[in-house]
Amino acid sequence: MSLPSRTTEGLRVNIVPIHAANPGPMTGEGNWTWLLPGTEATLIDAGTGAPRHLAALDDALRGAPLAQVLVTHAHTDHASGAPAIATRHQETRFRKMLWRERDAKWPVPYEPIADGDRIAAGDTSLVAIHTPGHAPDHLCFWHEDSRTLFCGDLAVKGGTVWIPASLQGDLAAYLASLERVIALAPARLMPAHGPVIEEPETVLRGYIDHRLEREQQILDALRHGDQTPDEIVARVYRGLKPQLLPMAQEGVIAHLVKLEAESRVRQDADRWLIVG
Ligand SMILES: [Zn+2]
Repeated sequence: MSLPSRTTEGLRVNIVPIHAANPGPMTGEGNWTWLLPGTEATLIDAGTGAPRHLAALDDALRGAPLAQVLVTHAHTDHASGAPAIATRHQETRFRKMLWRERDAKWPVPYEPIADGDRIAAGDTSLVAIHTPGHAPDHLCFWHEDSRTLFCGDLAVKGGTVWIPASLQGDLAAYLASLERVIALAPARLMPAHGPVIEEPETVLRGYIDHRLEREQQILDALRHGDQTPDEIVARVYRGLKPQLLPMAQEGVIAHLVKLEAESRVRQDADRWLIVG
């Protein structure tokens, strides 16, 4: 039996990075979208409809038709540009795992993608990998030959990924998604934010360790008598900038929901109590 090869020489997929030109407080420098040119010219993620993104997409296509847009998930910075692309590219198909109430915000006629679907893209094919946690509809797209994973918001180099409890974020699902991706043994991750990740396992294992460490800190805070997400945030995220407090609070709630499902904490109105 041979081990899975990480060698990708000669198996590189042709990828054109196209920046979505949408810097901001939530997106940092903004999003990367990825064009796979070829017989099925495919754009991964729609951006936000910024004129510079649309123009850069046209330049990269060099007059070729855009066959499809694959959307990793229905957060604004990945999906809201779909109608603007649809207006300019009227034959283009739009495909994602459906999240109906959210998809309706930026209406295009989405065709559903299911976990494991193989999708012709560029001059090759990608496999859809359902990776919920950051969002319930989150998909990564896997290019087997080059062991390249277009990973959306599953990972961002040098940062952690936001698990928004109020937007159906699910920490337990996120941890399971990380394990699933580690098991693929990707050679590189192409994230929507930040640089390409050339050491996927280190980064993904680091996320898992970080979450388990955070979980311990939250359990310690509960043992110290903190009972509300506010109190826990004040202890665990000491000195955090005020504008980041709501995100930290959502992250703490995501941890509490996971711990509740594991019967390690229980909720009593707006208070959280450790079990046992
Ligand atoms: Zn997102």
